[in-house]
Amino acid sequence: MENYKHILLAVDFFEQGDVVARKAQALATQNQAKLSIVHVVDSLPVVDSSYGTEIPFNLDLTAELMAQAKEKMYELAKKLKIPSEQSWLEMGSSSSEIVRVAEENAVDLIVIGSHGRHGLALLLGSTANSVLHHASCDVLAVRLRDQ
Ligand code: AMP
Repeated sequence: MENYKHILLAVDFFEQGDVVARKAQALATQNQAKLSIVHVVDSLPVVDSSYGTEIPFNLDLTAELMAQAKEKMYELAKKLKIPSEQSWLEMGSSSSEIVRVAEENAVDLIVIGSHGRHGLALLLGSTANSVLHHASCDVLAVRLRDQ
């Protein structure tokens, strides 16, 4: 079997994220592969005035979320010794952005948790499920058990 060359770790900074990160790191070492990370800040809902209420789009909140995410990404990248050009902080739909980053960077394996914030009650969370359906490369869903 051919070694993986570029592994992408998708992180949501939720519980047990370390388990997924350690697995991705071990796989990168075993395969002598490049390891990158991606985190997607969920885009805030765009409120349509046709719903009858006007809720201003909160740019400060978006900037605050991005700043917090950037800090967490920086810490994790440092811990995993991942250079900044291999850490992707995106905004939008988590599964679409993970798949896009993978495709644009010739990733051949995406490592995700079996569930995180969106999938506590599910066997496979919504992000994990969608990435599995849409990615054109291999996807490893690291089984996370309820603590
Ligand atoms: P979920 O399917 O949302 O319960 O999460 C399953 C896994 O998808 C998590 O363990 C992460 O590996 C990945 N994931 C979820 N949300 C994000 C996100 N916003 N950015 C990057 N990866 C994510």
